Amino acid sequence: MRLYRVLDEQLQPTYALEAEDKTFRRIEGDILDDYTITDVVVEPRKILPPIEPPTIFAVAGNYRSHIEEVHAKTPEAPNFFAKSITSVIGTDEPIRLPAVAPDNVDYEVELAVVIGQTCRDVPADRAYDVILGYTVANDVSARDWQKRLGQWVRPKSFDTFCPLGPCIVTDIDPSNLRLRAILNGQVMQDASTSEMLFSIPQLIEFISADLTLLAGTVILTGTPAGVGEARSPKVYLKSGDVIVCSIEQIGELKNPVK
Ligand code: MG
Repeated sequence: MRLYRVLDEQLQPTYALEAEDKTFRRIEGDILDDYTITDVVVEPRKILPPIEPPTIFAVAGNYRSHIEEVHAKTPEAPNFFAKSITSVIGTDEPIRLPAVAPDNVDYEVELAVVIGQTCRDVPADRAYDVILGYTVANDVSARDWQKRLGQWVRPKSFDTFCPLGPCIVTDIDPSNLRLRAILNGQVMQDASTSEMLFSIPQLIEFISADLTLLAGTVILTGTPAGVGEARSPKVYLKSGDVIVCSIEQIGELKNPVK
C-alpha cells in the first residue's frame, strides 16, 4: 500500500491510499491503529509529510562508502542520535538555510523506517512485525555546527531539516533498494540499501532495548557516499537549489532551498 497524508478539497489533513489507477481514496481512522480504506476519491490540494512522528532517531555511519569518504571509524554497534520533530517538512516544501548557519548546509538521502506500534525489546527476528512501512528522508545537516559543537542533534534539528515523503509504502522488501540524491539535476549519491552495515532488524533490536519506541517513530537508517561535505570541491546547498532524494519503489522527495 502507498499511504499519503494530504490536504483534501476542504484543506483538511487526511490519509489517502494511492490506488493502482493513481487516484487517491480517503482513509478513515488512524493508520497507527484501526483504519478503513473507503471508496471516496480525494483530490489532494497538498501532499503533507506522511507522518507526524513523536520521535525521530537517525543512524550515523551505516554505509561503509560514507564512513570512508568522511574518514570516520567503522562503528562496532549502531550509532544513533535524534532529530527534532519540529524539523519535519513534506515534499515540495522549502529547506530554509538557517540565519545562524547558512553556509555549510548539506543533504543526506536515507531510507526512513516508520514504526507502526508502540514497542520495546524487539528481537531482530520480529522487527518487521513492528514496522508500518518506509519513506524517503533527507537528513539535512549544518556541517560547520557539527564540527564546532561535536554533537549532531542541534546541527541536524534546524527547522525544515527533516524532509520526509512523499508517502509511506508498506509492502516492500527494504533490503536492496536503490537510493539517490540529485542536486539541480546532477546525481550526487547513488547506492543500494543492501550496503547498510547494520540491517533494519539489527537497528530496531539495538535501539528498542530497554527503550520504548512509540507508534509513528521514524528511524533514519544512514546515508551512503556522495554528500557535499566530502566532495572536492565541497558542495553546500544554496538558495535556488532543488534537492531530490529518491528511493526505488517509494518515490521522490523534492525540496527547493531558500
Ligand atoms: Mg544521516
